[in-house]
Amino acid sequence: MSEIQEKANYCLSCPKPRCESGCPTTNHIRDFIHDIKLDHLEDAAHTLYSVNPFPEFTSRLCDTARQCRGNCVRGIRGEPVHINFIERYISDHVKRDDDVKESNGRKIAIVGAGISSLACARSLALDGYRVEIFEKEEKIGGAIYTGIPAYRFDKVHLENLYKEMLSIGVIFHFGVTVGKDVTIDNLLFRFDRVLVAIGAQVENTFGLEAEEGCVAGLSLLYDLNVLGKKAEYKKKYKKAVVWGGGNVAMDCARSLIRIMDDVSIIYRRGLKEMPAAVDEIESAQKEGVKILFLNNIKELKKDDKGKVTGVKAVKMELGEPDESGRASFHEVENSEYELDVDLVVPAIGQKVDLEFIKPGLAKGSDGHKLNQDRLYFSGDCFLGPKTVAHCIKDGKDVALEIMSSFSA
Ligand SMILES: Cc1cc2nc3c(=O)[nH]c(=O)nc-3n(C[C@H](O)[C@H](O)[C@H](O)COP(=O)(O)OP(=O)(O)OC[C@H]3O[C@@H](n4cnc5c(N)ncnc54)[C@H](O)[C@@H]3O)c2cc1C
Ligand code: SF4
Repeated sequence: MSEIQEKANYCLSCPKPRCESGCPTTNHIRDFIHDIKLDHLEDAAHTLYSVNPFPEFTSRLCDTARQCRGNCVRGIRGEPVHINFIERYISDHVKRDDDVKESNGRKIAIVGAGISSLACARSLALDGYRVEIFEKEEKIGGAIYTGIPAYRFDKVHLENLYKEMLSIGVIFHFGVTVGKDVTIDNLLFRFDRVLVAIGAQVENTFGLEAEEGCVAGLSLLYDLNVLGKKAEYKKKYKKAVVWGGGNVAMDCARSLIRIMDDVSIIYRRGLKEMPAAVDEIESAQKEGVKILFLNNIKELKKDDKGKVTGVKAVKMELGEPDESGRASFHEVENSEYELDVDLVVPAIGQKVDLEFIKPGLAKGSDGHKLNQDRLYFSGDCFLGPKTVAHCIKDGKDVALEIMSSFSA
């Protein structure tokens, strides 16, 4: 028996599959695994792709320990089913069905070429819409391209997807910043509908700024992944601290430990509360990143030229759950201390900036509508910073809304 069938046969084909309730796309996991048990690979692919068009991304990037695998009934007494392995196998072996319907003459513009935009563009293009994407970078992928490091995700999947999007007729305009090079009103004049899918890219820094030695998380990852500044950072900095506990913080710390010896993460809550993927936390620790749980940064220490020399930090303790359901936290009295570092990386969340696209733009009356006729938004800029799987689903959802708006 092949390895893939062995893994599939381990699934119990539960009448009420708990794994599916943990999947942000609510994929028919039990059914595609069942097709694999029967050696019906094409059917498995059809089932998988019908819900999630981009499993080559989710099978490699989802936090499965908190999503499908984390909910698998097999996990109660032992190892959960290797759902992501099966998903990856299917997507590596069977191509997506790319049947494009005849043109319906309708034109859609999308701002941004992140995963949510691509999911929406694919649904629309297959249904006969003419889709043009306006992207400020020179490549597709958004946060997956600029943020997620290559050691964690092979960017060849983005290149392959780009070729495939071209083959189904999607048109890309790279190096165009909407709100600067072209206005939303101009796009609304030229297209029937416009989708804004610009992600959540404005970084919180909570006032941490310096002339040198303080670089926010997304900017650091952009420097390393897109601008190729690894050598520059290696030369300039010897000891870094990353502030935060999410995926961005992990990617920053794991990227930095590859170019310097001393990297710590300061996180104000405990391991249980840490939002980063479990595998990422473990990998960071294995690679030598020190994680200072229940600690927080209060302010930067700088020399007279404004260059970072360290941080003033404080110990924290947990209290009752807050409105998010996570344990609240507060400072331990008289526990302040100083940490000498030459690079501080705040990675403590991102916000959405629709004002840049057009002043006054905000959520509209219902669904994915913005407060201007024929204008929609999706992905992280609609949901707030989420995950690849959430954004794929959201891109498909907004495509349906756009399609139905023509028959309304
Ligand atoms: C470092 C990092 C690590 C992550 N790790 C994971 C992970 O392991 N697993 C997971 O599931 N999720 C992860 N996420 C979250 C996930 O990547 C995002 O939720 C998702 O990719 C967002 O997709 P999006 O399409 O909404 O927006 P984005 O991917 O942010 O894409 C928005 C696009 O819009 C473009 N744009 C912005 N403004 C303009 C403008 N004015 N004009 C033209 N173009 C514009 C941007 O250049 C970008 O290409 C991570 C995020 C980051 C930042
Ligand atoms: S919960 Fe686990 S065992 Fe049950 S159907 Fe899903 S993958 Fe299979």
